[in-house]
Amino acid sequence: MDHFLYRDGRLMAEDVALDEIAAAVGTPFYCYSAATLTRHFRLLDEALAGTEHLVCFAMKANSNLAVVKLLGDLGAGVDVVSGGEYRRARAAGIPGARIVFSGVGKTKAEMRLALEGGIRQFNVESEPEMLALDAVAREMGVRAPVAVRVNPDVDAKTHEKISTGRKEDKFGIPISRAREVYREAAGLAGLEVVGIDVHIGSQLTDLAPFEQAYRKVAELTAMLRADGHDIRRLDLGGGLGIPYQKSNAAPPLPSDFGEMVRRVLGDLGCEIEIEPGRLIAGNAGVLVSEVIYVKHGEERQFLIVDAAMNDLIRPAMYGAHHDVVPLVEAVPGVEAEVYDIVGPVCESGDTFAKQRALAPLAAGDRIAFRSAGAYGAVMASEYNSRPLVPEVLVSGDQFAVIRARPDFDEMLKRDTIPEWL
Ligand SMILES: *Cc1c(COP(=O)(O)O)cnc(C)c1O
Repeated sequence: MDHFLYRDGRLMAEDVALDEIAAAVGTPFYCYSAATLTRHFRLLDEALAGTEHLVCFAMKANSNLAVVKLLGDLGAGVDVVSGGEYRRARAAGIPGARIVFSGVGKTKAEMRLALEGGIRQFNVESEPEMLALDAVAREMGVRAPVAVRVNPDVDAKTHEKISTGRKEDKFGIPISRAREVYREAAGLAGLEVVGIDVHIGSQLTDLAPFEQAYRKVAELTAMLRADGHDIRRLDLGGGLGIPYQKSNAAPPLPSDFGEMVRRVLGDLGCEIEIEPGRLIAGNAGVLVSEVIYVKHGEERQFLIVDAAMNDLIRPAMYGAHHDVVPLVEAVPGVEAEVYDIVGPVCESGDTFAKQRALAPLAAGDRIAFRSAGAYGAVMASEYNSRPLVPEVLVSGDQFAVIRARPDFDEMLKRDTIPEWL
């Protein structure tokens, strides 16, 4: 459920008409709903109630400071995957004790940054990384709390590019080698083993692969404890899917996920961490765009809009589907037109949707791409020298620009022409 609904024929973000924001900010822009972000966080938090737990928002899904602060104020921790995200988390007021650092390629500088600023745990993904972290921590005279990310060799049955828990994926260490790696970790004076980490992929629409992976984690926990390790936290990763398409079957409910986690892992007495990104932010955001031209091709009609692949790359990168809705509600009974919805970028890949049936639209009409709150703005680039799209946050009847559209002077100033040219 989200808070982008029609009221009196206008598409609203909570109590603000998106058309009103468009008039103030210009298109394209991202708009997030605070009530939706809050609702999604609470659903997950409540799903794990009764078990000691921390919901760590995966910041790579949406790292705007206002979004991160909103979630942090609700009690969320965060999962960061770079020094940049770590800095953002701290700037948004997240205490180090609620920051988990994931990622396969942490540099020593990033490790130092997090150890200096405070960190809950590093999820280490390889032995070389473990040795590097040990060295950095010893240099600083501290012990780095670590969980080892294990690869359970489970097929999440999701999109190829967001599957991470199979043998052939680059993430984690094979679960078959876990005991050996934990033994090695326990022998390193700069490390303190605190738990186990697993993350098998993104946009999972079925609980079965999670359960398969978590059963392996439960077995491993028992084994590692028998080996003398103090396994007190289990980080279960993110990956819960969201409905991108109204017509599709609904993905698992957070409450069912929580129930399964309790059933599979509840007896171990571990603190549970989860790292949801998409489930919290995905349906809490839309990308609003304006139709520039309607072009009648020989076989197709093209809706050429002012947003492009550089603003929202998911359709081009993953073939992802985003529902598209007009800001002015279609009159009931009007006959639909079929459009290819494309952006202005000089790439055939700059196509948001093919053969999409919509009530007839004209130049100047506005549309919203739904489910754009996760992996939207964060993946944007300035390809074709298009300025980054602004972000807006709505809460009730108020809205604020939480990242302004850069002006062109600002963009040009970032380049330098050498004196000798
Ligand atoms: C991407 C990622 C997440 C978040 O995944 P979602 O599908 O957005 O929930 C969590 N943990 C790790 C380690 C990730 O790489």
